[in-house]
Amino acid sequence: MSTKACILIVEDEPIICNFIATTLSANNYKVIQCNTGKEAIALIPSHCPEVVLLDLGLPDMDGLNLLKEVRQWTGIPIIVISERDDEKSKVLALDSGADDYITKPFGTSELLARIRTAIRHNTRLETGHTFPLNTFKAKDLFIDFNKHMVNVNGEDVHLTQIEFKLVSLLAQSAGKVLTYDYIITKIWGPFAVKDNQILRVNMANIRRKLEKNPVDPEYIFTEIGVGYRMLEDD
Ligand code: CA
Repeated sequence: MSTKACILIVEDEPIICNFIATTLSANNYKVIQCNTGKEAIALIPSHCPEVVLLDLGLPDMDGLNLLKEVRQWTGIPIIVISERDDEKSKVLALDSGADDYITKPFGTSELLARIRTAIRHNTRLETGHTFPLNTFKAKDLFIDFNKHMVNVNGEDVHLTQIEFKLVSLLAQSAGKVLTYDYIITKIWGPFAVKDNQILRVNMANIRRKLEKNPVDPEYIFTEIGVGYRMLEDD
């Protein structure tokens, strides 16, 4: 990377803020920090950071409201940093426009991986020509979207129409968690009953077909109570 990617940290706890800032600087990112929502709203348009790391519990506003406001004028990648471990706030954050979330306490490598994924997705969207993807490859999984072809280890996998749609949806957003509601709306339409049962059944069938060990998947991961995430492509 020739120019350093700029990351804005919006976090009011100095220890966490400094830990993240030190980690990112050491990994060749340019870092801007602030500790209120108001400052963040001013800094995003003036500095155009590549990624925003957003704490949900800010002194002057709820991070979710900040998220919704910022989403009205920019698609900039936002990763929510939350100590709220409950599934509901993760889902709310994702459905309010967050690209990803990371729960405190988190490790350095997890943080860096999430940032890399967010930057990659955004670059892809901006350059346009590789998005949507024509093909997808992660480890031994290969998908050709135009030919409706999925294979694992060189062997063709036969998926139903719905299963193929599900795998495609996850693969096009590989590395990102997609919430149950988002997936159901995309596959079964906006008026579908938000019932996870049909989704779970389909996912179980997909896993039987794709994974060596469906209980310990290597391609499609469950984010319990939140949704599913496809392994990032190579
Ligand atoms: Ca906080």
